[in-house]
Amino acid sequence: MNNNPYSQLFESVQIGPVVTKNRFYQVPHCCGMGHLRPRAHAAMRAVKAKGGWGVVSTEEAEIHPSSDLAPYAEQRVWDKKDIPALKLMTDAVHEHGALAAIELTHSGHNSTNLFSRIPAMSPNAQAVNFLYPKQARRMTKKDISDFRAWHRRAALNARDAGFDIVYVYAGHGMSVAQQFILPDMNNRTDEYGGSLENRLRLTRELLEETKEAIGDSCGIAFRFAVDELKGKDGMQFEEEGRAVVELLAEHPDLWDVNVSDWSNDSQTSRFQTEEAYQMPYVGFVKSITTKPVVGVGRLTSPDLMLKLVKQGTLDLIGAARPSIADPYLPNKIKEQKTDQIKECIGCNICVSSDNFSVPIRCTQNPTMGEEWRRGWDPENIKPNVTDQKVLVVGSGPSGLECTVQLARRGYQVTLAEAQNNLGGRVLFESSLKGLSNWKRVVDNRTHEILQKNNVEVYKDSRLTAELIGELGINNIFLATGSSWRKDGIGRSRRSPIQGLGGISVYSPEEVVQSLEDINGPLVVYDDEQGYLAGVIADHLSSEKVEIIFVTPASVVSPWTDSTLEQKRVQASLINSGVKIICNQSIKKIENKTAVLECVFSGSITKLPCESIVMVTERISDTALYDSLIQNNFDGKTSYNIKIIGDAP
Ligand code: SF4
Repeated sequence: MNNNPYSQLFESVQIGPVVTKNRFYQVPHCCGMGHLRPRAHAAMRAVKAKGGWGVVSTEEAEIHPSSDLAPYAEQRVWDKKDIPALKLMTDAVHEHGALAAIELTHSGHNSTNLFSRIPAMSPNAQAVNFLYPKQARRMTKKDISDFRAWHRRAALNARDAGFDIVYVYAGHGMSVAQQFILPDMNNRTDEYGGSLENRLRLTRELLEETKEAIGDSCGIAFRFAVDELKGKDGMQFEEEGRAVVELLAEHPDLWDVNVSDWSNDSQTSRFQTEEAYQMPYVGFVKSITTKPVVGVGRLTSPDLMLKLVKQGTLDLIGAARPSIADPYLPNKIKEQKTDQIKECIGCNICVSSDNFSVPIRCTQNPTMGEEWRRGWDPENIKPNVTDQKVLVVGSGPSGLECTVQLARRGYQVTLAEAQNNLGGRVLFESSLKGLSNWKRVVDNRTHEILQKNNVEVYKDSRLTAELIGELGINNIFLATGSSWRKDGIGRSRRSPIQGLGGISVYSPEEVVQSLEDINGPLVVYDDEQGYLAGVIADHLSSEKVEIIFVTPASVVSPWTDSTLEQKRVQASLINSGVKIICNQSIKKIENKTAVLECVFSGSITKLPCESIVMVTERISDTALYDSLIQNNFDGKTSYNIKIIGDAP
């Protein structure tokens, strides 16, 4: 380690009565596993511990049935019965020398209690602001007393489950402690409302009582959102955010500081490209407390991590998404293999998994979420079982990943790409406004491929069945991708839109290359309802193209709600002057006019339309697959063929 320029990142840090072996700290993050999938959860966290993280945390852990986040799959520490499931994780994490942390949570009026059926409660009687139209009741003094007792009992159970660090949580708008602190959620007139000291009373009590209960054996962390990014309408780090840190400076053993809400804490690279973007908000904390401070900001650069420690901004490098994209990030820095770090691209596919209550997945790390069921590990793959050669056709993300993994297994791989660049659809999409970080998907994999001496890469090589026959390779992976259709077939209609022949119709790729040719306002028609149409509209708008965005959906790019981006997406289009028409499908085109049909009433309106870009559905490119399969069927060949990615 002495020769490692990053050795300071591997210093131990005292957190109350426990010591973390290094400064790499996986902060609590959701994963769609929780109490529903405890073995999968334990295996996933264990891989991070194996990858070198000094601290590995759970997601939110509900402390009582009155804070039930169903249908979300979070952790539970409702009572002693939850200890065995939680212990699966602590044992697995300890096995690799890391500390295990748990984020105790009561979500107040952020929980709908759909499973437990218990009325939600919060500082005031107010609307439940999550999933379901319900009303939370105002907490009485007895409720507050009960809540403190539940929290204390949960802390004791967490200790007994083997956790080394236990959180008091006041962040993301998801915690009753934070709801008491924020004046717009707390209008009480008793000693828990009014002045900041009063609004902070509950948090102070939680910190003191947790410390008293388990502080001799566990570090007590306080996760606190110093700023809500609402300006004067919310918590600001220069105002009450700072005051909270001053008032509680020495109370916790560790300050875990961030910004609220979740969409601000986990901003996507599309809207926040800067690494360490939270430092301007949380950077003051260390000047106020003597306790260690952990912060986040999609940190993947070892140089920047070191700088933050050296300049006294952070003691611990916090990470949720960077630890998902590369569970082995600390070990790679330790072993000075920093060029092998799989950098998070900030796409929030991981977040979408949690929002759909399925196990986490990651664009950069395909093993994420499959550590238990399939035994996957991003840095360990079983070696080859034969010395046969393998052909991969297509170098989009699937073809590249397939090539990397086959090469790691020791196969002799030939990668053929029809275009003169590797990367496929990612190459195009990463050229669009806001998506430059996505190119990391290509860069990371091509870097590894180019270092392998068992991979041959052929660009500008469009293969046919005959050419494949000449190669004499029997094992074939086809990652031939797909292309956007231009006939209007999509989610809301299964027959082509009539009349498209009378106007200019573009695919997303074509329209970006045809800016000079576009006549009149361009209609972006989104019947896929994913992310791309919104990106295209944003991109073209920044190129001064007048855009009319039409979609059968009720909002722009509704799927991006799952990646915490939808509001930003729609705001960006509005601010760019894009005209947005929702709830309308295109019925037909006639006389350079789009005939729009309301998806609810069927009423008709008309929109001048000379140019349109279709983002509706993709057509898989299976031509090569079909001919190879036919040859096999006819007995002419006996290839092992798999079609992968978005080609099937
Ligand atoms: Fe990062 Fe995307 Fe992976 Fe999430 S899914 S960790 S945002 S690369």
